[in-house]
Amino acid sequence: MTKQKKLVLDIAANSNAHLNAEEIFLLAKKEMPAIALGTVYRNLNILVEEGLLRRISIAGQPDRFDHVGDEHEHLICRQCGKLRDIRVDGILDKIKSATGEDVLSVSLSAYYICADCRRCLRHTDMTAN
Ligand SMILES: [Zn+2]
Ligand SMILES: [Zn+2]
Repeated sequence: MTKQKKLVLDIAANSNAHLNAEEIFLLAKKEMPAIALGTVYRNLNILVEEGLLRRISIAGQPDRFDHVGDEHEHLICRQCGKLRDIRVDGILDKIKSATGEDVLSVSLSAYYICADCRRCLRHTDMTAN
């Protein structure tokens, strides 16, 4: 593994912040000032293909990257994109029995409107009336 690839993996895999490529690039630059954004993108893609990182795609937002260490799903605010880890017991078994297939893994994104955004939306409604 190249030094650049190892650095990108370390940053993305050791963070619980679900960083996007640009955020990973800024952190990588601190360690390796000469690293290019394109290198970070390329290595992120390779690491996802190799199963060492997990990509979280959210419509209208840059992809985020996550560690693959423990099984978890994501709860995402539709309004601001805030993202939280959630654990749902037995989800793999439920999908296995629903499909009758030996499903290997599950990557689930659940959407909601977070408390902050709900407050904002209410506020906007009030000023509009
Ligand atoms: Zn929100
Ligand atoms: Zn996560």
